[in-house]
Amino acid sequence: MPEGDTVHNLAARLRPVLVGRGLTGCDIRVPRFATVDLTGRTVDAVTARGKHLLFAIGGAVIHSHLMMEGDWHVYRPGERWRRRAHTARAVLAVAGAQVVGFSLGILEVLTPAEADGALAHLGPDPLGPDWDPAVAASNLAAEPGRPVGLALLDQRNLAGVGNVYRNELCFLRGTHPATPVGECGDTRAWADGAARLLRADLGRSRRVTSGIDRNGMRAFVYDRARRPCLRCGTVIRAGILGGTGDPERSIWWCPRCQP
Ligand SMILES: [Zn+2]
Repeated sequence: MPEGDTVHNLAARLRPVLVGRGLTGCDIRVPRFATVDLTGRTVDAVTARGKHLLFAIGGAVIHSHLMMEGDWHVYRPGERWRRRAHTARAVLAVAGAQVVGFSLGILEVLTPAEADGALAHLGPDPLGPDWDPAVAASNLAAEPGRPVGLALLDQRNLAGVGNVYRNELCFLRGTHPATPVGECGDTRAWADGAARLLRADLGRSRRVTSGIDRNGMRAFVYDRARRPCLRCGTVIRAGILGGTGDPERSIWWCPRCQP
C-alpha cells in the first residue's frame, strides 16, 4: 500500500538517477499527453508531496500518483521490465538508465503553476519541508464529529497517511478508528504520532510499525484479522469505515486495546 513514506523513498531513489541529467527519451503513454516529448530537457528535481510524485523537467512538471498499484522502476538499458509493458504509463530515459512508471493512478504533464494548483488542497506533509504539526492538528480538529479514522486519511488535513498508518496510529493511541475526533484528545498528539510513524519508515524497504520485522507481525493491526493482538493477545477484528466514495475503507482494531 503506497503511503507517504513509499513516495518519499521512491523520490530519494530516483533523484541520483535523474536529477541534473538530460532526457534522451520521453514516452508518455496516456492519450491526453501522448504527444508530449521532453527529450533534450534536463531533470531539475524529483520531489514527493504526500503521496504525489513530481518530476520538474525543464519548465514542465510530470505529476504522478501511485494510487493502489502504481510504482516507478529503474532499469539499465536493455534490462527486462519486471511488470507488463502494457501497464507502463511513462518511460523516461537518460544516459545509462531508464525510469518506467507502471499502473499509475495519475500521470499528467503540467506547467509549474498547474502543478501547484493540483496539489493546493494538500495539508502539511510530515516528511516534507513544510511540515507544521500545529496546522495539521488544527485541520484535524476542524471537524470534531468526524471519525478519526476518516480524518487521518483526508489528505487535506495532512498529506501522506494511508490505510496502514491510520490503522496503526489508532492502535498506538488506543482508539477505535470510528471514534469522533472530538473525543480523541489533543489532535496535536495525533499529528505528532503520524509524523513519527511516517519518519520511522523513511529509507526502509519494508514498513515496520510494530518494531518486529517478521512476517505477519510488522504491523500491530493492519491486515491482521483473526490473529492475536501483539500486545494483549485478543483476536484482532476487521471492519469497514466510511462510505462507498472512500477509497480505503478497511479497518482493523484490537477490541481490548482500542475500546
Ligand atoms: Zn490488544
